[in-house]
Amino acid sequence: MKIALISYEVYPFAKVGGLADVVGALPKYLEKLSVAPFVFMPKHKIVEDNAKKFSYTLEKVKENLEIPYLKTDEKFDIYISKIPGSNVPVYFISNQYYFSAEDVYNGPDLAEQAIYFSAAVLEALKALELDVDVIHVNDWQTSLIPVYLKTLYAEDPYFSKKVSVLTIHNLGYQGVFESKYLKFTGLPDSLYNINGLEFYGKINFLKGGILFSDVINTVSPTYAQEIQTKEYGEKLDGVLRLRSEDLYGILNGIDYDVYNPETDSRIYANYSLKEIGKKYENKRKLQEELGLPVREVPVIGMITRLVDQKGLDILADVFRYITLLDVQFVLLGTGDRKYETLFKEFEKEFSDKVSANIKFDINLAQKIYAGSDMFLMPSRYEPCGLGQMYSLRYGTIPIVRYTGGLADTVKEYYEKTFSGNGFGFKEYNSAFLLKSVARAVDFYRNKKVHWKKIIENAMKTDLSWEKSAKEYLNLYKIAVNKKV
Ligand code: ADP
Repeated sequence: MKIALISYEVYPFAKVGGLADVVGALPKYLEKLSVAPFVFMPKHKIVEDNAKKFSYTLEKVKENLEIPYLKTDEKFDIYISKIPGSNVPVYFISNQYYFSAEDVYNGPDLAEQAIYFSAAVLEALKALELDVDVIHVNDWQTSLIPVYLKTLYAEDPYFSKKVSVLTIHNLGYQGVFESKYLKFTGLPDSLYNINGLEFYGKINFLKGGILFSDVINTVSPTYAQEIQTKEYGEKLDGVLRLRSEDLYGILNGIDYDVYNPETDSRIYANYSLKEIGKKYENKRKLQEELGLPVREVPVIGMITRLVDQKGLDILADVFRYITLLDVQFVLLGTGDRKYETLFKEFEKEFSDKVSANIKFDINLAQKIYAGSDMFLMPSRYEPCGLGQMYSLRYGTIPIVRYTGGLADTVKEYYEKTFSGNGFGFKEYNSAFLLKSVARAVDFYRNKKVHWKKIIENAMKTDLSWEKSAKEYLNLYKIAVNKKV
């Protein structure tokens, strides 16, 4: 089977968030399952900047291609490279006007950029005569591809057997724009209606993807269910319910080579489950580096974008009570000014208990994953979540709100059966958050045998890409079978 994976970001060429990690990793694992993946992404400015750092080359394979139906004369070139460490070809859509911004998501016109990229990918597939079975698009930036396939390209023999799969990585980002952009797309005006792209007087790209793709998935089974409810549906729950028979959930994996406490060169001391004692060297060094007293108290880590989605409001409500449990709290994050200021104030007030690091620092992140005892993720919603997966891998016990991917990866520890790999709460509420933290602290302090077992269960949790890639292959088969 041959798959074209389409994404705005792909690691290591351009990375802003988790999407890049997924599209950078999944094709490597699909290759091992005898699937032939081809990746398409824009040739952002950063792609050239990163070439040296990640030792890849870029070679032009086509130039001056046009998109006849778009309301622009801009032409594009195609470059090719490979995902480092694999044979996966990556094709780059290159256009100076649309893809030369410093920041991947900060071009001159986000709507036109996404439209141009989506249409260019379809033209590129044809120009390259790539014989793919599935066109796998990701998030709103590529969501018009399924719409084009079922309209302007519906009669095109090259596309006649091809199916599309849409992965929603975060329903919070939909690509909602003024309806005037419909003209630019070259799509029929008739799509401006409630069963098309129309969305409260504007147009919604993700809605188009949901309605027109053959199969849809999101990045965890629980989130796939949640987004069909009003509470999590971000005004698209009705549309998602319409497609519920074709809507699946597949957890992301993590890269076991990069996130491995036995070999990770970014942490203070390597360790494994057998040599778990060395984890505590990481803890002491972390305390030292962050200027916290080197004491035998539970260290709770948190690494996150500081935005409402991440449950910071309920954490703030009970933060003072958490400090009363005699724990240390280490935060690494950037985001909304109100949260940055708030945690800096907590750090001032509880200087021997709180370390608030307001920056983006992947090395410090690893040290926190390795050096903390617990990892807090009280998210309001969480499509999949990577933080809890990395912390499990490093034997750092997650305390989470059971939502989305957090509910699918973290299981409450039960003493009776010695089962479970973490702690959590269901209802989005600060009192329950506090109770969960207190429960974890109690196990840490008073139930040492169980604490050891929780760490063992955490480190043995299967979060591999092998597992997820098999599920994607299955999903592709489901999509292909819809066409025959
Ligand atoms: P989201 O994609 O919603 O931000 P995830 O948990 O899926 O949340 O992924 C966040 C990733 O970004 C994690 O790998 C986390 O370690 C990393 N991260 C977040 N903030 C920072 C930061 N300030 N410094 C370093 N890494 C960070």
